[in-house]
Amino acid sequence: MAIVEPLSPTSEGRRRLGIRSPATREPVGEIVVNSQADVELAIAKARDAQVEWARVPVAERARIVRGAIDVLVEKRDEVVKTLIDETGKTHLEALIMEVLPGCDYINFWCGRAVKELSDEKRKLHGYLRPYKKLMMHYRPLGVVGIITPWNGPFSLAINPTVQAILAGNAVILKPSEVSPYSSDWATRLLREAGVPEGVVQTLQGDGETGAALVNGGVQKISFTGSVRTGKKIAAACAEQLIPCTLELGGKDAMIVCEDADVERAAGGAVFNSMLNSGHVCMGVERVYVVESIADEFEERVKAIVSELRYGTGEDIDVGSVFWDRQMPIIERHIEDARAKGAEIVVGGEADTTDGLFYKPTFVRKVDHTMELMREETFGPIVSVMRVANEEEAIRLANDSPYGLSGSVWTKNIEKGIEIAKRLETGSVVINDASMVYGAPEAPFGGMKQSGVGQVNGLGGLRGYTHQQPILIDRWGVKKERVWYPHTPKSVEEIDGMIRFIYGSALKKLGFFS
Ligand code: NAD
Repeated sequence: MAIVEPLSPTSEGRRRLGIRSPATREPVGEIVVNSQADVELAIAKARDAQVEWARVPVAERARIVRGAIDVLVEKRDEVVKTLIDETGKTHLEALIMEVLPGCDYINFWCGRAVKELSDEKRKLHGYLRPYKKLMMHYRPLGVVGIITPWNGPFSLAINPTVQAILAGNAVILKPSEVSPYSSDWATRLLREAGVPEGVVQTLQGDGETGAALVNGGVQKISFTGSVRTGKKIAAACAEQLIPCTLELGGKDAMIVCEDADVERAAGGAVFNSMLNSGHVCMGVERVYVVESIADEFEERVKAIVSELRYGTGEDIDVGSVFWDRQMPIIERHIEDARAKGAEIVVGGEADTTDGLFYKPTFVRKVDHTMELMREETFGPIVSVMRVANEEEAIRLANDSPYGLSGSVWTKNIEKGIEIAKRLETGSVVINDASMVYGAPEAPFGGMKQSGVGQVNGLGGLRGYTHQQPILIDRWGVKKERVWYPHTPKSVEEIDGMIRFIYGSALKKLGFFS
């Protein structure tokens, strides 16, 4: 029984998709797939609304958007219920991965909006300074399409949506068909807080609706999802010459150094491999542990994984696999590893008696011939490979087509930082993992196949604007020296200026830089 399955069309012939809980297989909702015509209507509505919204002062936009925190706190149980129904994640995961960061993102971006988005004066340097003034205007782009995946359906929707609308854009959110209503909470909360309807809209559907949105005439696409879809979106955006950010898959390495706190590292390896049923783009997918501490590390990992409880309800640690399409990938990676000589210490099989569960799994003796160490598995699995030393760990961590995030575990922070700098990844965490997206000050984005562009960071809000410099003449003289006609005198004046500024000791004193 598929988690997302076609239902009979509506009386007007529209496609419908039924959504089941992966944990219980009970129906939890359905969507009517938005067509290309719906997309066109939504974009037209967004375009009209955006003009008015962009005129609302930034401080007022932030005041309205901030109200969504109150609505979220008040409705958190309903939001959590939708998340658990659609994904089968645990209650605690719904809180720490969705509701808490959701509140934090809204709070953070509203707090920075006025400073980052208001017009600002910038000092010009050098010879231009006496003549011109520079002002920066952060001009909204227009309509932004935000396309999201199923693993963090609320937090990955609310974060970019809030940024885009604070920057004066209208947003059309296209959630994953697996978790449509979890993401739609972003739109509902913002509207309830007072954001006009046309400024934030959700369109439901699968890849067809997503593709219609990408090609529908929006001014930017913010995409989070798989490498495969990301490449299609990049091509479509290139064709239209519109910007996009692509937050794609990962195969994050965890390096456990010889001097790591083994107890913390073992606990961290298990938590960050299992969190959200292993469906975390920047979760731990590969562990490299230095041989000299590997026995103790593996013993501890085995003890923790053996105790994990999976299923539904409050007293469980690991929820269901969110989508049936992920299960064969997890199973294939484990079977491939087993066939190539890995040792499955705990778990290593699905349990689909009641729902879509994969037993929390610990695999050792893995290597880079195995898919488990090369392709994104996205399952509740700790995969451990022993290495002779930290150098080997760095080399293997970099031996991947992905480069999203990674982690280094050591008591020597200086050494950890040096190792971090050598990792070919968008970000690195020391003595923890899976955390960077939760720190909105940190620019987030992958290297290699893990993405293009960055989100968040101090420039996050400005990523949803065109940074429009407005250069203003200071004096309004009737005629500039370089205007026509060109004369030997004007040549001599400019040549003299070059000699004066750049051909003398003045430049060394930094007067004109
Ligand atoms: P996916 O690419 O299958 O789908 C993502 C979204 O794109 C969905 O809304 C889907 O309906 C839509 N879509 C599908 N085809 C499309 C098309 N041709 N045009 C436009 N939209 C289309 O990804 P998924 O399986 O939903 O998500 C899991 C992936 O997301 C994993 O690889 C995970 O690592 C990655 N991810 C990355 C980050 C990050 O920040 N880097 C965060 C979370 C998840």
